[in-house]
This record gives sequence, structure tokens and C-alpha cells, in this order.
Amino acid sequence: MAKAIKKVGVLTSGGDSPGMNAAIRAVVRSCAYHNLECVGIYRGYEGLIEGDFVSLNARSVKNLINRGGTFLKSARSPEFRTKEGRKLAIDHLKKAKIDALVVIGGDGTFRGAIALGEEFNFPIIGLPGTIDNDINGTDFTIGYDTALNTVVEAIDKIRDTAHSHNRIFLVEVMGRDAGDIALSAGIGSGAEVILIPEQNMGRDRLVASLKRNKKSGKTSSIVVVSEGDKVGKNIFEVAEYIENNLDGYEVRVTVLGHVQRGGSPSCRDRVFASRLGVSAIDALLKGESNVMVGIKDNKVVSVPFIETIEGENEIDTELIRVADITSI
Ligand code: ADP
Repeated sequence: MAKAIKKVGVLTSGGDSPGMNAAIRAVVRSCAYHNLECVGIYRGYEGLIEGDFVSLNARSVKNLINRGGTFLKSARSPEFRTKEGRKLAIDHLKKAKIDALVVIGGDGTFRGAIALGEEFNFPIIGLPGTIDNDINGTDFTIGYDTALNTVVEAIDKIRDTAHSHNRIFLVEVMGRDAGDIALSAGIGSGAEVILIPEQNMGRDRLVASLKRNKKSGKTSSIVVVSEGDKVGKNIFEVAEYIENNLDGYEVRVTVLGHVQRGGSPSCRDRVFASRLGVSAIDALLKGESNVMVGIKDNKVVSVPFIETIEGENEIDTELIRVADITSI
């Protein structure tokens, strides 16, 4: 029989995202509810390797639900990629008498969890924390909704100036391998064209589409470009190509960058993170391990880590159709 869980460690790892604090809070309070001890691990796997731990109770996580980032801090740990690094980590877990871990992060964090779980048969539950929404098996990731709202707010402002000057604005949003942010924020902000890594539009089709817009009476255009899009080497090269092949417009580039990661989490992200934090402890108490807890069709689900990181990001083809039709 699996060892009874009395003490749970929680950490945030990889890129931070708004709502991670709400998730930690829910994990800590769920531990308190079930009379489990809870230990916060600073700086993700780096702090695990160094034994940088703090004891947490229900009051330690007050005034946090509304704060972006992660109070436990996050880090990228090259050492954890080595067996020696992970051995140091497990030694610290054993020394602190921690029986199970909740890790909040993206696919890299889950890969690390797979390695640790397999090598030392240690119970680990993952929560999807990334703005990119690029984790399979869950409809949303913690931080995605807030990032979308940030992007839409920024593009609304850009639209005002684009419209006043007959300009084409290229707006780069985050998403190295996943076009989810670009697609949803593009629809939400009324973008004329959306470029995503899952669909290579090509430069000529892009220019043809902008020409069609002009012919149909549009005096400005917003093009939302996902970071990982492959139409050009980078967004500035795409801008130059448009400028050289389309008359009558000035082309401007805005790279939104890290503003998309920050800010107070949206209510949707806070509720989502709270549900997942509570469900993580439920899953551990049911004896589950090596799974991510996510939400599919508004139901909490447990998905083996390996399934969350396998294959390509799946883009919603219905959303692509909506974007095509509404940008006419
Ligand atoms: P994210 O979780 O946001 O995708 P990273 O890709 O940086 O962020 O991963 C977070 C951390 O997880 C890395 O710094 C590393 O310590 C650990 N990690 C990532 N991939 C592996 C792997 N294949 N094996 C072991 N640890 C890994």
C-alpha cells in the first residue's frame, strides 16, 4: 500500500504566470483543511536542490489571490536535468519528511516531474501554469485568460492610433510553439489577420489578404503575430516585406513582450487556479501520482504527465473559421 501522505511540498517552476499565487494558496489551504502539513519550496527545482523550504499555513497565503507572479518565485534549473541534481532534490525531500509534491508550471516542469517521479517513485501532481495554453489534456492553463485580457487591452489602444493614421500594425504576442494567445486575442480585438505557428500563411498570402482588406474599404489593419510564427525570420522582416509590397500604408511593429506575463489575475484565472489547487490535494489523497490535474469540458480531470507533453499543440479549427469570417 502507498505511504499515507502527511506532508506536501509545493513549488512553481519555469515561466511564471498570473494565478500561480492563487493556485499555491488553494494548495496550502486544502492541506490545512485536510490536516496535512504544507511546505513551500522557493525557486522551483533550484530551491528543491538547495533545500530552500518554508513552512506554510493557511494564514501564510493571505492577500495573495489578487497578486500576479509567484511569491515562491520561479527559476529554470539546469542542474535538475541531471540525475545527480535530482538525487540532491530527493535527499532534501526525505530530510524534510515531505511525502508528495505539487508542481505548478509548464511542459518543462512536467518533464522534470516525470524524471523525479520515475527515478525515486515519488508521488507528484502537476498543475498547468503557463500563459501559453500549450498543455494537452486541459482546456486552459493558469494565466492564459489574464494574458488574453492584457493583450486585448493593449491592442484596443493600438487600434486607436492605427485607425487615425492609415497604418498597419503588426503586434507580436507570446507563444513560441502555440498560437492560442494570438488566435483568441486576435478574435477578441478584431484583428484583420492572425499569424500562428500551426498555420504557415506565407508572405504572399499575407500581403494579398491586406490588399483585399484595403479594397473592401478598411483604412487600417491590425495583424496579430504569434512569437513562433514562421512567415518571416522575425516580425521586423515581415513588416519590411509588407512595406515593400503594399502601397499607401505605413507599417509599425509592437512587441508586447513580458507585459503579457504580469498583472493581477482575472477572476476566471483565480477561480480556475483555486479549483486546481484543491483538486491537486484531492488527487494525492486518492493515491494518484504522475498526473496533471486540469479542466476538460468544465470537469476536473487527471491526465498522465506523458500525455500532456506528447505531440503538437492542437489549435481549435472552429476559432480559425470564426477569425476568418469576422475579419472580412
Ligand atoms: P516550463 O515549465 O514553463 O515549460 P522550463 O521548460 O524552463 O519551463 O522547465 C522548467 C524546469 O524544469 C527546467 O529549468 C528544468 O529544471 C526542468 N526540466 C525541464 N525539462 C526537463 C527534463 N527533460 N528533465 C528534467 N528536468 C527538466
